[in-house]
Amino acid sequence: MFDLVIKNGEIIDGTGKQGFVGDIGIKDGKIKAIGKLDAQDRPTIDAEGLVVSPGFIDIHSHSDFTLFVNRRGESKIRQGITTEVTGNCGFTAAPVTEEHFDDLIQYLANTVILSDEEKAKWKWPSQADFLQEIQGDEGFSFNLAPLVGHGTIKVGVMGFDKSKPASEVMDRMLGLLQAEMDRGLFGLSTGLQYEPCLYSDTQELIELAKKVKEYGGIFSFHLESESEGLVRCISQALEVAEKSGVSLQISHLKAAFRPNWGMSTTVLDMIDDAKQAGINVDFDVYPYVAYGSGLIDLMPPWVREQGAGKMVELLKDDSIRTRVIREMDNPGEDWENPAHGCGWDNIRIAMLKTEANRKYEGMSVQQIADHMGSSPAEATVKLMIEEEAAIKAIYFAMSEEDLINIMKHPDAIFATDGRAVAPYGPLGRGSVHPRYYGTYPRILGRYVREKQIIPLEEAIKKMTYLPAKKVGLKQRGLLKEGYWADITIFDKHNVIDVATFDNPHQYPVGIEYVLVSGQLVIEKGEHTGKLPGRVLKRGQA
Ligand SMILES: [Zn+2]
Repeated sequence: MFDLVIKNGEIIDGTGKQGFVGDIGIKDGKIKAIGKLDAQDRPTIDAEGLVVSPGFIDIHSHSDFTLFVNRRGESKIRQGITTEVTGNCGFTAAPVTEEHFDDLIQYLANTVILSDEEKAKWKWPSQADFLQEIQGDEGFSFNLAPLVGHGTIKVGVMGFDKSKPASEVMDRMLGLLQAEMDRGLFGLSTGLQYEPCLYSDTQELIELAKKVKEYGGIFSFHLESESEGLVRCISQALEVAEKSGVSLQISHLKAAFRPNWGMSTTVLDMIDDAKQAGINVDFDVYPYVAYGSGLIDLMPPWVREQGAGKMVELLKDDSIRTRVIREMDNPGEDWENPAHGCGWDNIRIAMLKTEANRKYEGMSVQQIADHMGSSPAEATVKLMIEEEAAIKAIYFAMSEEDLINIMKHPDAIFATDGRAVAPYGPLGRGSVHPRYYGTYPRILGRYVREKQIIPLEEAIKKMTYLPAKKVGLKQRGLLKEGYWADITIFDKHNVIDVATFDNPHQYPVGIEYVLVSGQLVIEKGEHTGKLPGRVLKRGQA
């Protein structure tokens, strides 16, 4: 006897095999039977004409910074995501050490806007403790498979110190990492584009990776450069994977800025060769030609090397400000200003902190500069000071040819690189990246149905089985008897993203039902209020 039966759906199981029409019987949160089933008056979902797929597994996400505001994770569950790998790009809330607490707040200034009251509570000894606390007794809409951030660990041990860590400092970092892995986290992430991860040499990364390898975790690797230095940085990632033996995941693969367009072929060849040679490396990609980052990326490295708060202080000095603006307009050999890579017109402000500047959200830096009657560099610096550097921006920097090339690769894993937000409440603010709402429906609608660049079964495999296998999720990622009933049911004829860069806070269409551990969280496109999602532990079913 089943608790729930899904009838007459087109079952696409996640392996890449062709779908077939059938039923799925669910009992105690798990898939009990697949085939032609007798529902025997049990509750039934009529899935006729709909695709029944494993729930989508978002291998690269950041909702650990928003679920404590809204545990429903609306923008994610409504695109069919049933498990998120959180804690990417080096950024996590914890672990925090008392001596470097202020450094951590600086490090996270671009990631999370905290009130003084929240700051006072922001002191978890481990990421595992932080997640337990935000999970509470209530849970979330979807499951979390958390990583711990290299940047947070590094800031916690050595602040923004640029020097190579001495062996006892390295041991402290390894100790914090080990404590998290002992608590069941799934691995480590780094964000080498950002201070202080930027100061790490390859040897430090290899040592950390070896610790992750001991536990069978993954190392999620945000490259130092995704533009001019892309090939060099892919080589570094491959070296870390080779010398440590870790399972390495290159984050949001792309070739940013026009002079580098076309480089996707080169880097995919490098990755293929490495895999051929037995190196454990994979990569993820989101289906958009713009990336999201802090506006702080436009500032010369020397002025931000002690963190965002210190930078804002420095910028208040006239002579420093003049030098910064001059260098932004004429960057030297050792620094590539993203504004020159993509153009001031193509950098759009997503989110600002102060009420006074909110009129600029959604505008390009060029438009804001015109409005202020100043140069784009001057406008950027003015905003940096007024907003205390907490400015999110969207950079239109990639080509769709490269994007399609990367997406079509048989091993590409699809991910959002997004955080869960909602059209209502405090998370409904700002011109956030539309990937927060639209990633998976956009792949299924635009790239599978309209452009036909990937067959549906392949696309689903890249959203379910491949990430589950990479992360080591037990009994998830496939429609298979004995597996957890994490299931997304959608209409392949009309599924599509609705969120745009101009109007991002919109749910997609065509995602009809989402089940997490057998419980209906989305029913006929609406949230049921159920919160079956939990923090998962590595190695546990
Ligand atoms: Zn990243």
